Amino acid sequence: MNVVSPSAPSRRAGGVNIDGCPSFLADRMLGKLARWLRIMGYDTDYANEMDDDSTIAGIADDQGRILLTRDRNLHSRKGVKSIYISAVEIEEQLRTVVSECGLAYDENRMRCSLCNGVISITGREKVSGLVESGILARHDHFYVCGTCGKIYWRGSHWARISGVIDVVLARGK
Ligand SMILES: [Zn+2]
Repeated sequence: MNVVSPSAPSRRAGGVNIDGCPSFLADRMLGKLARWLRIMGYDTDYANEMDDDSTIAGIADDQGRILLTRDRNLHSRKGVKSIYISAVEIEEQLRTVVSECGLAYDENRMRCSLCNGVISITGREKVSGLVESGILARHDHFYVCGTCGKIYWRGSHWARISGVIDVVLARGK
C-alpha cells in the first residue's frame, strides 16, 4: 500500500469512523484540503503520487474512506463513495466537504496536519526544551502528535486557521 497511514483506520462501511465521523482519502491534487480536514479533526489520508486510480479506489473502499477527488473518472467509479471537488480555492473545497458530510469543528479533536496522527494535549513541562523559551512562557498547553511528534500551540497562526474554518462553517450550512 502506498498511502501514508500512520494511524490504524477504523473499518466501517460508508466512510464513517468508529466515533461516528467520516474519514477521507484525498487524491493527489488535494493535499491542501487533506491538511485542512486533519486540522478540523477528521481522519484524512493522502494518496501517493505513484498510486493509480484503481489502487486509490481500492484503498478508499478497503478502509471505508470517502474519496475526495478532482478526477471525474475516479469520481464515477462504481463501488467507491466519493465527492467530486470542482473548486480550486481551498475555502470553497472545504465548504464542499463540510456541506456534503455535515462536518463540525471541535478544536480539541484536531489531527496532525503533516501526518494525520492523533494529537493529545499536554502541559508546558512536557515540551520544555523542545520549543523556544518565549513560546513556552506564553502558553500553558501544547498539542503533540502521537505519530511524528510535531508540537503545536495556539499562536497567531492558530487563530487565523480557526477564523477560516469559522467562515467556511457559517457558509456551509
Ligand atoms: Zn504528525
